[in-house]
Amino acid sequence: MTNIQPAEHSHGIDLENALEFLNTLHPGHGQRDEAHEREEHLGSPAEAAGWLLERGLIHPEAVGQIGDPELRRIRDVRTALREVFDAVVENRRPEPDAVHLVNATLAARRPTRLELDGTAIRIGHAHAPRPIDDALALIAEAVVEELATGTPERFRICANDRCRWAFYDFSPTARRRWCDMRTCGNQAKAARYRARQREAKPGEPARPN
Ligand SMILES: [Zn+2]
Repeated sequence: MTNIQPAEHSHGIDLENALEFLNTLHPGHGQRDEAHEREEHLGSPAEAAGWLLERGLIHPEAVGQIGDPELRRIRDVRTALREVFDAVVENRRPEPDAVHLVNATLAARRPTRLELDGTAIRIGHAHAPRPIDDALALIAEAVVEELATGTPERFRICANDRCRWAFYDFSPTARRRWCDMRTCGNQAKAARYRARQREAKPGEPARPN
């Protein structure tokens, strides 16, 4: 038995949620129907606060502290993280401004610390003065941790240029190209079919697969 008390609460976010954050600027699937058009899921401070609250990244009492300036900051950090993500996938150097903003965001992360509690010690963590700084730092950390110690070579951008959904390739062969076979994958198949039909001489059937 130890006299170490567990944390009263913790915050954290997994990579999947962090990538979902990147996709909150829903890239759509290049289709014209309502369900697949580009869409901003963090359209207002209330929406952004709700997103963070649902994932345990802020406390309920912090919701009221998220206004327009915080929403701008959330979107700026999202853009910067997306730039770093894209650069990794595209094997290029990210924009320096994006890297600086990600680093500034990470700097707000308060490390785990020990707190004295009667005769025991408890695992705790400090909060940044502004809750939004904590939340964004946790999201940035999930992405950067994957770069540092994970398998970022499995980061993918949907191969549909009008989609560009950010995802992690969990497939056994690591050859997934589309966010979703039913939407972007099918569109690509249909486009290849049409291209083959155009190549085929008039009057001749398209070449089979
Ligand atoms: Zn897609």
